[in-house]
Amino acid sequence: MTYDIVIKNGLVVDGSGAPPIRSDVGIRADRVVALGELAEDARRVIDAEGMVITPGFIDIHTHLDAQIMWDPQMTSPCWHGITSVVMGNCGLSIAPSRPAERLFQIKLLESVEDIPAESIIAGNKFEGETYGDYLDMLDELPKGVNVGGLVGHCAVRYHAMGERSMDEPVATPDDIEKMCHLVDEAMANGALGFSTSRSTLHTTPDGRHVPGTFAHTEELLALGKVMEKHGRGVYGSVPPVELADPDRHRQEIDWMAAVSKETGRPITFPIVQSRESPDLWRDLLAQVQTANQQGARLCPQTEVRSIGVVVGLANITPFDQSLAWHALKPLSLREKTEALRQPERRALLVREGNEVSNQNQLSMIYQLTDDDARYDFKPEQSLWAIASARGVSPTEAFIDIQLERDGEGYFIFPFLNHDMEAVGELLSDPSMLLGLADSGAHVGQICDTSFSTYFLHYWVQERKLFSLAEGIRKLTSEPADFFGFKDRGRLREGAFADINLIELDKLKVHPPEFKNDLPDGAGRFIQRASGIAYTLVNGELFMQDGQPTGSFSGRLLRGSS
Ligand SMILES: [Zn+2]
Repeated sequence: MTYDIVIKNGLVVDGSGAPPIRSDVGIRADRVVALGELAEDARRVIDAEGMVITPGFIDIHTHLDAQIMWDPQMTSPCWHGITSVVMGNCGLSIAPSRPAERLFQIKLLESVEDIPAESIIAGNKFEGETYGDYLDMLDELPKGVNVGGLVGHCAVRYHAMGERSMDEPVATPDDIEKMCHLVDEAMANGALGFSTSRSTLHTTPDGRHVPGTFAHTEELLALGKVMEKHGRGVYGSVPPVELADPDRHRQEIDWMAAVSKETGRPITFPIVQSRESPDLWRDLLAQVQTANQQGARLCPQTEVRSIGVVVGLANITPFDQSLAWHALKPLSLREKTEALRQPERRALLVREGNEVSNQNQLSMIYQLTDDDARYDFKPEQSLWAIASARGVSPTEAFIDIQLERDGEGYFIFPFLNHDMEAVGELLSDPSMLLGLADSGAHVGQICDTSFSTYFLHYWVQERKLFSLAEGIRKLTSEPADFFGFKDRGRLREGAFADINLIELDKLKVHPPEFKNDLPDGAGRFIQRASGIAYTLVNGELFMQDGQPTGSFSGRLLRGSS
């Protein structure tokens, strides 16, 4: 046989930004070996009539560091054409950590990223200490998709300074030397870079700010210089997006610009729109542009839609401050739904729910459409407006919607990027990366992991903000080049066969679903999609029509110079 797989009759969008072309794709072992009209025989032929053939998509901002140890399929990214993920964002990685410090890092993943610690403990397989040990473990694990990681400042600083890492913003020269040594070890063993958190929202279980939050520029520069020495590596940071003071945001870009210029390393960090300062993002983009003209390499990232808390019976409702609703909390979703059906209990829930909620709050919570989940919320989608239209009180409307959907009627409270027109402008900035999906994090509150499907469906197909070729480029070669993934992100001869076959007219994002499938039985949101017909990873068929094939051909993405 000439090929293991030939994909026939499809339209190839190769990820480079070049216009689509009709071409077959020949795959042997883990690589694309031929493009064009292929007549030779193949072990398997996939008919891609009516589909586009693209490189696999890359999710640059995940927190799957723990999940990968119990979920080789890598849900939910696996349903959205993702074939490579970057972990270790926001300053958080499981290594380096001495075994006695492991619990601290696990608890940080819980307190910052809302991944239940009991689940991580139950699913943990990491027994080493260094970041290299962690990568070696990843290398051995079965993986549906390719994974690489950033080494996190929190783990590095805690390893070097212990409790002082949280209490002392100024590190001593000795502390900095220890930290640099740890980052050096991580880079030598294939970390993709280093990440830090400056957000005051990121706290430890005892309420302190996470290690490194207030680190001075001297320390941040020294850690960047380790990557400079290796001649590669991405520097990731999370500014305090929650703070309204514009000067604080400008100072963040100032230090990042200085470190990037001094070390030559690219830095990525979120720029988002917030309600407190709805236009600040424009100033920040302008500041980034100026810094880049002066020799920095700042590449901000943003989520392709509003970032929001999922509101539903499964996790949180707008009425939870009332005693009647609070009493539902310990129940399973089925028990809660049963409770809503009992007339007396319903009457009590309605009365108390209406007492603790108001128009202002309920006008900012929007119902997700059932089939094709849309995030460009219109005023008539708010719970307040829906209740008015139904001629019932908001709590009755909420209960009825739950009963109509067996307890799974979901709403979103968008707290960042709430204005989709602003999101469109953010995405149009040439320095902007698609990111911030936070896959694997905030598992019981936020579910934005479907960014790739949503981006193609909404911004490319519906809004036509990008051509198909340019949209695919932003999901593939742009992030691959940024992180230095060799032979990935472009569909060409010699590249790894990470490939999606997509039925564009069937693309849609499903509403979130709540599943109690974490180790130890804890719950989380997942989100599926339609329209991604096939996903191949390293030449093997990984997903077909949303179903896993059982193949785990993902690899560890070690950075190398
Ligand atoms: Zn994050």
